[in-house]
Amino acid sequence: MLQWYAEHARDLPWRRTQDPYAIWISEIMLQQTQVKTVLPYWTRWMRRLPDIASLARSRTETVLKLWAGLGYYSRARNLKRAAELILQNHDGEFPRDPGIMAKLPGIGRYTTGAICSIAFNQPTPILDGNVIRVLTRFFGILEDSGATTTRTRLWKIAGQLVTLASTQGIGLKHTSTTRHCADLNQSLMELGALICSPREPNCGACPLQARCAAHRANMIPQIPALKPKAAMRSRLFVAFAISRDGCFLVQKRSEGGVNAQLWEFPNAECLEDEPDPENSARLTLGLELGASERIGTIRHTITRNRIRLEVYHSKPSHDPSGTSPLTRWCPPSKLAQLPFPSAHRKIVELLANRQLLRT
Ligand code: SF4
Repeated sequence: MLQWYAEHARDLPWRRTQDPYAIWISEIMLQQTQVKTVLPYWTRWMRRLPDIASLARSRTETVLKLWAGLGYYSRARNLKRAAELILQNHDGEFPRDPGIMAKLPGIGRYTTGAICSIAFNQPTPILDGNVIRVLTRFFGILEDSGATTTRTRLWKIAGQLVTLASTQGIGLKHTSTTRHCADLNQSLMELGALICSPREPNCGACPLQARCAAHRANMIPQIPALKPKAAMRSRLFVAFAISRDGCFLVQKRSEGGVNAQLWEFPNAECLEDEPDPENSARLTLGLELGASERIGTIRHTITRNRIRLEVYHSKPSHDPSGTSPLTRWCPPSKLAQLPFPSAHRKIVELLANRQLLRT
């Protein structure tokens, strides 16, 4: 695996550094998100907030704006909170002790293992979806890969492998470094991402093929065994781009809930199959609107929710800015500067395409 990694690892910007801060940011961004999506976000983030001190001292709104579009916004808030604690309690130096690191907000067992091994070359294991797939297939583990007992077993195997890697010398044919813990963990993730894919893995190009239990037993489709996923749920929402004197009504989500502190257009869930925008606005938002024109539909998926968002352009029949202290009339030029979740960013794009953002 170390030799395969030395030959085949993708050249990614966070792999050109051993800075734990840069690696931490990449690991958090890469959770549930593909490399090609993360690349511009990571580059932008590192340019604007290059170290722990700059993140700790930044405004929450700046952090959310840099994160906007990646989803799971609690991850961004945890990054800032953890940076503040590192600055306060560790003089801004990233702690090397896995026990201390794991106490920081948003840093769980996987992230601790990744930072300790990749930045500090410590023999700490990692286990994510890619590693689970490689290990269950290679070792022929047929049990439900999400079960606690299976996870315990996989963490143990991952720990044994990285410990073994730490004892390897530099005599390997293609490797010139002794950063074997970093390379072994990354090789497992890389093999899962590039070769041992969920469907139709490219076993012919895999360095583990000769000893892979799933390949030998022709059982690749059955491994890893997964519980059937919960059914998707379809949900309908309406959102209102309410304009007055060229400005749009936007509201800030309150602390503690989903997408906390992000901005959005007023919106509500509809329980009927077809939206009745004026009625929804009155009943759920307390807004009296004049005639509303539908300007588009946005579809997106969040975990097991398939969401259809019908977007309306409306004029208020009275001033609704008093409905919440977190609402404001925003001129078109400022809309682009607010951190919106991606569905609401698309509303701004819809307004621009319909030429409704004139000042
Ligand atoms: S041989 Fe195939 S199934 Fe086994 S680890 Fe390699 S790619 Fe995965």
